Amino acid sequence: MKAHPIASGGAWAAPQGEPALLTIDLAALAANWRRLRDLVRPAECAAVVKADAYGIGIDPAVRTLWGAGCRTFFVAHLGEAERLKSAAPDAVVYVLNGMLPGMAAAYVRTDARPVLGSAEEVSEWISICAETGRRLPAALHVETGMNRLGLTLESALALQSNGQLARFEPTLLMSHFVAAEDPVAPVTSRQIDAFDRARAGFPGVPASLANSSGIFLPSRPHHDLVRPGYALYGGNPTPGSANPMRPVVHLEALIVQVREVGTGETVGYNARWTAPTPRRLAVLSVGYADGYPRAGGGTDRAAADGIDTATALVAGIRCPFVGRISMDLIVIDVTEVPPARARRGERAVLIGGALDLDEVGRRAGTIGYEILTGLGPRYSRRYLPA
Ligand SMILES: *Cc1c(COP(=O)(O)O)cnc(C)c1O
Repeated sequence: MKAHPIASGGAWAAPQGEPALLTIDLAALAANWRRLRDLVRPAECAAVVKADAYGIGIDPAVRTLWGAGCRTFFVAHLGEAERLKSAAPDAVVYVLNGMLPGMAAAYVRTDARPVLGSAEEVSEWISICAETGRRLPAALHVETGMNRLGLTLESALALQSNGQLARFEPTLLMSHFVAAEDPVAPVTSRQIDAFDRARAGFPGVPASLANSSGIFLPSRPHHDLVRPGYALYGGNPTPGSANPMRPVVHLEALIVQVREVGTGETVGYNARWTAPTPRRLAVLSVGYADGYPRAGGGTDRAAADGIDTATALVAGIRCPFVGRISMDLIVIDVTEVPPARARRGERAVLIGGALDLDEVGRRAGTIGYEILTGLGPRYSRRYLPA
């Protein structure tokens, strides 16, 4: 087995001297996709690569997933579909957010399939089919509880009776879970039932309901195709149980300065953290401008309320963030770390190892999804090959 460059203490790959290094493990991405593919067989496993593949980079992500055997992709915007097509020209690509008025021709040019979610979108798609003389492929999104995008079951079924369904090529019938990560949420079984009623009205049209967490629901609502995103990138699709996925993202920062503070001194803007005893602190060149949520800062108030706030790992030891997170700086308490391991130039892990994506999200008052999609442009990026 190849040694992981991080685990083996490989060289700091920061060509411009960037103070933080984001490592993206494309082999883990491919392994995660294959794992889900095997789990859902004979259903097809697609990949959701919206928002720059959840922040890891749509180009390397799509090339890797295509290489692993993935053939169907979902993005949110038409522009993302264009980028995807340049990385994988033969990929089938669906645009989840549907179509803005007058954009149907651009979808045809890009060879992208809109996910039609309203009667207006359906009629614009039918018009472009009539203009081009082709029955063009598109997905139909039926509403089952999210109330975000999607035709009501009633108006979807009406497409059948009013003949509109025959005027384009419906290649996928889909809906989206509200709370699949909670296996006992009552809304989940209501959605599964509603989707079954919808499917009955579209015999022969492939169906898709499950996102990452939906794949792991006990009733296995995989149908013909599943649409994982988060789990591919190492997020835990089964919160509350061990994460079955391999981590893809590792973020570490170099310590730029170490300082001592006495009892009663405060740290950062608005003096929100007070040293309870003399403490040794380390400063990192990462801040909310890099996508680290400001809400993760360690304050006296959060400590009094027993709220878990953000931590970093230095030499494997958990070091709490202290004070407010600044735009470009974070201060951590390294008092518990042997001084030789917490010097200027030593590393602090912000995501990775014992500090997984889901914990980072929780401690910052958000979810791992937002941590991933916020990963900032100032990090030095290194891709470990698939
Ligand atoms: C984002 C999205 C997904 C992927 O969800 P994950 O929870 O990241 O697996 C699937 N389907 C739709 C409609 C989405 O918007």
